[in-house]
Amino acid sequence: MQDTALTVDEELNPYRIAQQQVDQAASYLPHLRRGLVDFLKQTARIVTVDFPIETDDGSIRMFTGYRALHSRIRGPGKGGVRFHPDVTEDEVRGLASWMTWKCAVVNVPFGGAKGGVACDPKQLTRNDLRKITRRYIAELEDCIGPNTDILAPDVGTDAETMAWIYDTYEMMHPGRNNLPVVTGKPVDLGGVPGRREATALGCLFATSRALERGILPGRGSLNDATVVIQGFGNVGSIAAGLFAEAGARVIAVSGSAGGIMNRRGLDIPSVISHQKKTGSVVGLPGCEPVSNAELLLLPCDILIPAAVENQIRADNAAEVQARCVVEAANGPTTPVADRILFERGIPVLPDILANAGGVTVSYYEWVQNVKMEEWELDEIHAKLQKKMQRATDAVFDKQEELNRSPRRVGRASGRVGQANDDGRQSLPGADLRTAAYVLALDRVAQTATERGVWP
Ligand code: NAD
Repeated sequence: MQDTALTVDEELNPYRIAQQQVDQAASYLPHLRRGLVDFLKQTARIVTVDFPIETDDGSIRMFTGYRALHSRIRGPGKGGVRFHPDVTEDEVRGLASWMTWKCAVVNVPFGGAKGGVACDPKQLTRNDLRKITRRYIAELEDCIGPNTDILAPDVGTDAETMAWIYDTYEMMHPGRNNLPVVTGKPVDLGGVPGRREATALGCLFATSRALERGILPGRGSLNDATVVIQGFGNVGSIAAGLFAEAGARVIAVSGSAGGIMNRRGLDIPSVISHQKKTGSVVGLPGCEPVSNAELLLLPCDILIPAAVENQIRADNAAEVQARCVVEAANGPTTPVADRILFERGIPVLPDILANAGGVTVSYYEWVQNVKMEEWELDEIHAKLQKKMQRATDAVFDKQEELNRSPRRVGRASGRVGQANDDGRQSLPGADLRTAAYVLALDRVAQTATERGVWP
């Protein structure tokens, strides 16, 4: 999903970005065999399906869907389904790769996968979307399954879509327990309580722990921290409510139609009901309008991109005035922007950690379905909190470890290529993303090595 208005020359292809991130992490892991890294960078399988739908306006229209399986090294593939006009093969490949690393960071025994259909849910009826979902799942045949590749919600899909996915798969495979083929289902259809808010809640837990670990010197908690959120869908709107309840002041939010700002803090329930009534956050009385571009540059303690990829880039990273960035969205910061923010001392809590709460609770749903159990909300929240805290600690510990090494050239230098006395190349100081990737890559590589290269 890329901003077509962008004119600067930088890499915006999510798959190539995901590969660059792995390469960057691999440079900190010299013991890994080069061929193994090449293997771990590639998509294991990509399926493309073109299919017709008879839409409610009476026409027959063609749609293209994809399902990418990046890796099943640490468990079955796991990843959401996106309905958005900008879905492409490479976007799905990139998102699938990020899922592999995310599952490894939180130590959830899944590999990475992702799917999507290029369509605009806002221009289609509910009936059209139901048909698209059913046909897409039918076309994927046995490329998905409860023990091979498990689906979940993402941009443009929700619990109802997951119910249609389950129902279609169940029609195709009657007589067995098919509930674990998809997570994020309605609670009365094998879903777990708390899945809808899991990504945002996980983000809150990770952020709180990062504050305790000193991500913002002088601020150890969310109390009265100023927060700006881009994207007011499932993740963004729920994060806004949760961060406000935790004592933060959410001063600006936006959706694709634009944003609103109130320096004293927005009343989140009013924003949510205004969006429900009008379809957008824009125009809430008592707020100033703010464009999406301006919103990203507002001074605040915590900027939370919760919309789409490539929002903080070469052309705006130098103007970001947030003290830190917490990536609720997947891939909102480009590699060039990462370097700029690092140079400027603005830490980024990376997506593969910050939004891993969704897949973590999906894992709990999968286990519940496999074992035919029923889990309680407080049990799920307690487990999620522990997982997010452990993963956050592991990433901070890894960053400290990497930056203690004599081969680093300083926290904010960002330079590569300085030779040490022994003639080897120095590596730049590691940011939190690099630390998370090093942790994840090492874990996946270790499992791959234990299993061996088949045959
Ligand atoms: P959603 O469809 O519910 O919401 C997306 C929001 O982003 C909407 O408010 C939309 O108006 C806004 N938006 C779209 N394009 C925009 C733009 N260019 N500028 C500003 N706002 C824009 O999707 P979601 O499920 O909330 O997902 C948001 C992000 O979180 C995605 O990157 C997704 O991959 C990631 N994520 C979601 C989950 C999950 O459980 N849903 C889990 C992990 C990560």
